[in-house]
Amino acid sequence: MRFQTLAVHAGHKPDPAYGAVMTPIYQTSTFAFRGVNQPGPFDYSRSGNPTRKALEDCLAALEGGTHGFAFATGMAAEATVLAMLNSGDHVLVHDDLYGGTYRLLTKVVANHGVSADFVNMRDLDALRRSIRPNTRLLWTETPTNPLMNLLDLSAIAQVAKDAGVLTLCDNTFLSPYFQRPLDLGIDIVVHSTTKYINGHSDVVGGAVVVKNSKLAELVGFHQNAMGTCAGPQDCFLVLRGIKTLAVRMDAHHRNALGLAQWLQQHPQISAVLHPGLESHPQYALARKQMSGCGGTFSFRVRGGREQAFRLLGAVKLFTLAESLGGVESLIEHPATMTHISMPAEVRQAIGITDDLIRISVGIEHLDDLIADLQQALA
Ligand SMILES: *Cc1c(COP(=O)(O)O)cnc(C)c1O
Repeated sequence: MRFQTLAVHAGHKPDPAYGAVMTPIYQTSTFAFRGVNQPGPFDYSRSGNPTRKALEDCLAALEGGTHGFAFATGMAAEATVLAMLNSGDHVLVHDDLYGGTYRLLTKVVANHGVSADFVNMRDLDALRRSIRPNTRLLWTETPTNPLMNLLDLSAIAQVAKDAGVLTLCDNTFLSPYFQRPLDLGIDIVVHSTTKYINGHSDVVGGAVVVKNSKLAELVGFHQNAMGTCAGPQDCFLVLRGIKTLAVRMDAHHRNALGLAQWLQQHPQISAVLHPGLESHPQYALARKQMSGCGGTFSFRVRGGREQAFRLLGAVKLFTLAESLGGVESLIEHPATMTHISMPAEVRQAIGITDDLIRISVGIEHLDDLIADLQQALA
């Protein structure tokens, strides 16, 4: 079945108890045994819950995987995967990625004997040279936040296969509707379902999807052992959000590309970083590995920090806030908001300068979004 159909149907049928069309919220900690030594399909909600199972099976279907896992947050999903490594193991991480992942690796996981090196994975030779005998995992994220750089996932998967190393992709920015890393040879997909997958800015959640039963067993074991799973109420909300993922992503893509094209010709904008524009240095790779660009991108305002702050203060429809992927449009200043924990020299070196603005374009009418930026830039 096609993506749109799977988004509505995968993982759930009308409920066997009363025929409820939407999977009920099984708000229970435990499940009655059918008899002595006869558990039902579920015994305790940390180990498994029917609402969570419906979401997990739907996530697996959408990513083209065999097993999905739902977590309390995106960070809980990431922490659980990293807990599968042992002391002495090494991880190679793309050097331009979500700040929370950087913090988890350098401030938490590093204290448990798992080391990480950050390399620019757009340079495949540098990547090959950085692999050590104890390297277990290559960690990627594409497009990157907020600079919208892309990584060639199939090329990286091939480098990893040659070296006998696992690969992971944080697919939060595009969702499986626009990019399917497992199809490109990646072993593990992680998501912050807080963003596009849920899409309504009313829940935090995370996911892991794999397509190999050995890996699935490991993830499932750690999810249960660590207790990082999502609760049934949150799973219900994410499952409801997923049903409209395809139509929302199409709307996000159209609006964001329309705004990017409009900004590109505005005299006060010096650069637009959007992989759907031919001016993007990796436009060809975007066409090859993504079927759309989602709703988040960045641009640079002439006049530096002063003009950037003026714009942020003058918007009326865009909300000044962190996060992304919801139906409403958000605007933010990476240098002083989402990326403030990054050392100033590092920010400067990679291009997160004071003139940079990131927007998460919602599904409002494009003309209203353009009008808001137009009045704010005037
Ligand atoms: C938000 C985000 C995360 C973290 O997810 P939470 O749900 O906030 O824990 C991880 N990766 C990316 C790319 C994100 O945008």
